[in-house]
Amino acid sequence: MQKKSSILLIYTGGTIGMELSPKTGNLIPVNFGNIAREMPELVRFDLDIKTVSFSPPLDSSEMGPDMWIRLALTIEEHYDRFDGFVILHGTDTMAYSASALSFLLENLGKPVIFTGSQLPIGMLRTDGRENLITSIEIAASEINDAPAVPEVCVFFQNKLFRGNRTTKYNVEYFNAFRSENYPPLAETGINIEFNYHAINYPYGDHKLKVYKEVDNNVAILKIFPGIKGTLLNTLFNTVNLKGVIMETYGAGNAPTASWFISEIEKAVERGILIVNVSQCTTGSVDMNKYNTGKRLQEAGVVSGYDMTTEAAVTKLMFLLAQTPNDKELRSLINSSIRGEIK
Ligand code: ASP
Repeated sequence: MQKKSSILLIYTGGTIGMELSPKTGNLIPVNFGNIAREMPELVRFDLDIKTVSFSPPLDSSEMGPDMWIRLALTIEEHYDRFDGFVILHGTDTMAYSASALSFLLENLGKPVIFTGSQLPIGMLRTDGRENLITSIEIAASEINDAPAVPEVCVFFQNKLFRGNRTTKYNVEYFNAFRSENYPPLAETGINIEFNYHAINYPYGDHKLKVYKEVDNNVAILKIFPGIKGTLLNTLFNTVNLKGVIMETYGAGNAPTASWFISEIEKAVERGILIVNVSQCTTGSVDMNKYNTGKRLQEAGVVSGYDMTTEAAVTKLMFLLAQTPNDKELRSLINSSIRGEIK
């Protein structure tokens, strides 16, 4: 008899498991029992499904590096026993957590699917039921006796995306996520259609390597018309600051005024790594296109090409903890290590 696939469901919190607090009338996360009660379908799967819950469950605004490491350790602990992992997580910072996990888990050979919902599971029109059921099916799917999607992914409404390519863009509709610079890894309707050409499959038989450290001495700087030199100066002089993700205009452009470029140059000289990503959600930074981009390049800014801000900032934290060597850091930050960049 064929062995049943086994899936570990990791519940961290988020709207999917929330209820209205009788005290305040606000949505607050409650324990997994709430989801299990609302989803008797879970026992109808012909799968071996086990659950671990974060205690207390969190709104994802409370998630950060400690929780990412905890998730990575949970996957490491259960990696051999399960065929796939589904992580229930709030949508607000899901793209950050999925990006972080993609970097922390090297040589991943099994699916890690993040999902959640826009409406709590206890509401009649909830999207949580569909999202959870399909995520479990995807996590258990195989092609040629191997996992169909051995990647860290985000599944929402009817699309499966590479996690480190996603951004939450919609507060209201059920299709909360987009991956503007990379095609979906699967689309679901009556069938689950996998986009096999877009999925990364591991080469050889490498063992999973789980990293347990990130360095969050970083900042995100969004350029805007009217930005002041004092703001740049204060930010770049933050104690222990090691890297900055700079969100620039269009193809990677920013002011060329001498006060602006000089703040950048001083920061680069002090060893702060500045990575250029675009405020546009589609397309790539190209610092050779306009003079305004070229000046940044000459000042020592590194291109983040088509990375999302979520991928860039979590990758920077990851690399800063693993790679003290500045040259190596500058070369790794703008080359693809987990399919996060073109
Ligand atoms: N605030 C919630 C969270 O991120 C939103 C959601 O889950 O959709 O935890």
